[in-house]
Amino acid sequence: MCDCSDCEKLLQPYLDRVLSVAEELEAKEHLAACDYCDRRYRFEEELRMFVRQAAAEPMPQELRERLAALRLAH
Ligand SMILES: [Zn+2]
Repeated sequence: MCDCSDCEKLLQPYLDRVLSVAEELEAKEHLAACDYCDRRYRFEEELRMFVRQAAAEPMPQELRERLAALRLAH
């Protein structure tokens, strides 16, 4: 069973590491069971890393397209 709308709400705070222990567990369980959210999480993590590394540069077109494709794919 996959409840991605709930997971969606947990994803950003999970990336920010601001969830409670119970919520974090919930997010982890969902990521382990849901391929879509797992890919989404990895992508967001990659995106954040990229943003931290190259904060001054604009987002490359390729990354922008991957982000758009992920959102459309759901
Ligand atoms: Zn999901």
